[in-house]
Amino acid sequence: MDNTVINLIYLVASVLFILGIRGLTHPRTAVRGNLLGATGMLLAVVATLLDQQIFGAGTEAFLWIAAGVGLGAAIGATLALRIAMTAMPEMVALLNAFGGGASALVAGAVLVSEPDPAVQTTVATVASGLIGSVTFWGSLVAFDKLRGLLLPDRPVVFPGQQMLNAVLGLVALGCGALVVADVGIGGADMPVAIALLNSYSGLAAASTGFVLSNNILIITGSLVGASGLILTRIMCKAMNRSLVNVLVGAIAEGGGAAADADSVYAGRVKSTSAEEVAMLFDGARRVVVVPGYGLAVSQAQHQVRDLANLLEERGIEVEYAIHPVAGRMPGHMNVLLAEADVDYDKLKEMDAINPSFEQTDVSLVIGANDIVNPDARNDPSSPIAGMPILNVDQSRTVVIIKRSLSPGFAGIPNPLFAADNALMFFGDGKKAVLDLIAAVKEA
Ligand code: NDP
Repeated sequence: MDNTVINLIYLVASVLFILGIRGLTHPRTAVRGNLLGATGMLLAVVATLLDQQIFGAGTEAFLWIAAGVGLGAAIGATLALRIAMTAMPEMVALLNAFGGGASALVAGAVLVSEPDPAVQTTVATVASGLIGSVTFWGSLVAFDKLRGLLLPDRPVVFPGQQMLNAVLGLVALGCGALVVADVGIGGADMPVAIALLNSYSGLAAASTGFVLSNNILIITGSLVGASGLILTRIMCKAMNRSLVNVLVGAIAEGGGAAADADSVYAGRVKSTSAEEVAMLFDGARRVVVVPGYGLAVSQAQHQVRDLANLLEERGIEVEYAIHPVAGRMPGHMNVLLAEADVDYDKLKEMDAINPSFEQTDVSLVIGANDIVNPDARNDPSSPIAGMPILNVDQSRTVVIIKRSLSPGFAGIPNPLFAADNALMFFGDGKKAVLDLIAAVKEA
């Protein structure tokens, strides 16, 4: 097919990608956005297959491609159907690893197959190889850490680590310079690291686009690279941590020391029962549900929706407070609650809902911890000082559903659990909400 026509199709596909990303910015338009993006990808794939370089290579080339597509689709579909919601970050890590690895391999293949590559091509090849390899290995490390297979969950830090990373980086750049002339992840917060690696996989793809002189790869790679970077920045901001701090340090290293749990909780924690919470609801006009990682672990989203419906039937206003880093991946809570058909309009972002906690009778915190830790606001020496939080402590009563007084992701105690207006409802998220539903029905 004529090159101009192919580039024209690529242009249409790129516009569809951009419209698709725009659609994905709001839950209401997300499905349409996904469809637009997928249509763009279909167009791009078909146009690429009709490219003279592939078409001219004959039937054998198509057989190889068909085999790759078949195998990839089978593995992808199986993983997508089987993956548990709590394992999504691992799946994204693998996805990035394959993207980065593929970019590095394609760049390598071009390098060995082209007898006399232009400088522009070798520079792009080196960029693609370097970024692709970092993405591949970094994502595999992230995957392993999330799964807890070989590497420990905690940060792996040792003396001289930064220096070793700098030397390795210089060696890699030096090797890259040689190719052109001749022609570490530390204690990172995995989901942030994954967003960054996602961005890298885009940049690797864009570099490979330059190697292959393929416009659609350059455009899509840049889109993935830019959106990954924007997401990384949003997440760092929501944790009040710099990207460097996220990548090379653990939370405790980033801020001050945490108080020990006994001194925070001893003799101050009040536990409650489903019946007592049902009585609180009885006298409430406004209830705010605050979901956290424990909601995902216990898969309580459907039960939470049922409870909210029940309360609304009794004339109580119910809203959901969504913290930008609640859970373990961006949009984790939105995805869970959308799965349970919770009305989007009831999901309120942190800045929108925070001023309303003072007028809230009951805040029902389900499996959340760090994102409601008032130390972030009140204690400048806290390891999470400055992290924006949901001000649930300002509501009349806070009921916290979790299994124990165990800390959350940041590994620090939470004085909210010992606050005068707080009641702990100990138990698994789903079971506790089911008990609440039964108690509200009986009340
Ligand atoms: P946290 O990790 O702070 O706390 C989750 C709580 O859920 C735990 O204290 C745990 O307590 C409880 N829990 C676990 N399983 C269950 C269960 N089956 N039933 C009931 N409760 C349960 O989660 P948050 O959502 O409050 O905060 C997210 C944290 O993750 C933040 O520190 C954030 O910075 C970090 N993070 C998030 C990212 C993102 O993209 N969303 C990215 C990187 C980091 P217990 O064991 O007692 O039940």
